[in-house]
Amino acid sequence: MSHVFPRHSKSPPRLATRGEGPYLFDTDGRAYLDGSGGAAVSCLGHSDADVIAAIQAQVGTMAYAHTSFFTSEPAEELADLLIAHAPEGLDRVYFVSGGSEAVETALKLARQYMLEIGQSQRGRFIARRQSYHGNTLAALATGGNAWRKEPFAPLMIDTTHIAPCYAYRDQQDDESAEAYGLRVADELEAELQRVGPETVIGFIAEPVVGATLGAVPAVPGYFKRIREICDRYGILLILDEVMCGMGRTGTLFACEQEDVRPDIVIIAKGLGAGYQPIAATLCSAAIHDAIESGSGFFQHGHTYIGHPVACAAGLAVVTKLTEGGLTVRAAELGDMLHAKLRAALGQHPHIGDIRGRGMFRGLEVVEDRETKTPFDPARGVHKALKKAAFEAGLLCYPMGGTIDGQRGDHVLLAPPFILNESQIDELVEKLG
Ligand code: PMP
Repeated sequence: MSHVFPRHSKSPPRLATRGEGPYLFDTDGRAYLDGSGGAAVSCLGHSDADVIAAIQAQVGTMAYAHTSFFTSEPAEELADLLIAHAPEGLDRVYFVSGGSEAVETALKLARQYMLEIGQSQRGRFIARRQSYHGNTLAALATGGNAWRKEPFAPLMIDTTHIAPCYAYRDQQDDESAEAYGLRVADELEAELQRVGPETVIGFIAEPVVGATLGAVPAVPGYFKRIREICDRYGILLILDEVMCGMGRTGTLFACEQEDVRPDIVIIAKGLGAGYQPIAATLCSAAIHDAIESGSGFFQHGHTYIGHPVACAAGLAVVTKLTEGGLTVRAAELGDMLHAKLRAALGQHPHIGDIRGRGMFRGLEVVEDRETKTPFDPARGVHKALKKAAFEAGLLCYPMGGTIDGQRGDHVLLAPPFILNESQIDELVEKLG
């Protein structure tokens, strides 16, 4: 019997013993191609010599140094590197250990900023249905999954939700992508009018929706319009790039492709590439300066913020993504993966859509591709897919059933950026 908790399925999990390149191995020596990088985590595969060396060099220097006394070289260098490549206006980095913690940091930072500038009546957030922002109580409140939230209600933060930008399902036949983007972005304006814009702190969204929809980017112009609406009412734009950031979509930050200036950006998963738990909340000078010149102290903190070993791993990862050219490689490989998925599965009667950016791709699985009718959630198609792929030696990340009223099944692919062409072929073939 295993005493390890949690379990994600009723059958006992296999023991993973080691990884090599894009493969994981179990105790029987069976290889699994990591087609989802865990959950969009392993961007460099499982045996990256540079990241391992950086961790080994740092771990021998000290166990721990509390941030109320010290910063560390890896934390300083990683923050500098991230800001050098971040969207304009972002200039401070707060390091934590995981995506949910980084989302909590963002929500508290945004709330405290409003208090510092005398906007204490602003207490709520607007988010999007079919979104996931984490599992701690406030992050859970901003996410869209009703079934995840209901058992824990009432939640910590008042959040209301609008529709995501999901062209495959919602764009009308006679509507251009641009017109659709403006129409769906204007739901934010309508929601602000409904709840009162003077009560809202910020709008939070994933630039490319990951787990809940399967790599769905917004149509051109959507985020630009969202930014205009936020500016009109003094609302912060918070982008959750926990899954889609760190080179995954072919640019270091996914929002670089949206021509938008966020106030806060949250990154995690790929930042540590799986080697270390590390995440970060990046914020604008305006937010930081309001707190510095106001109360002078951000009311937040965790024991392991900015741990030097985690930052050393992050520094090695981001150096490879930027100076090492791996983000550009992710863009190229992603195009190849997309073309091969289209060639092999584009006409499949149960594949309704193949989408995404870079090495972040999604397939929508439908009963009827002409009418886009989803499978009955009771059939559990995504679960069957996950099992069949696993048995074929492929790890992928299917989701589905009913997520906040939206029925459907999809498969998310987020492989490491180090695949070669034959491994891309293997992924597509096994998925088929
Ligand atoms: N935001 C997004 C977009 C995510 O995909 C996730 C994790 N799947 C989180 C936040 C939460 O991150 P973590 O699981 O590291 O707490």
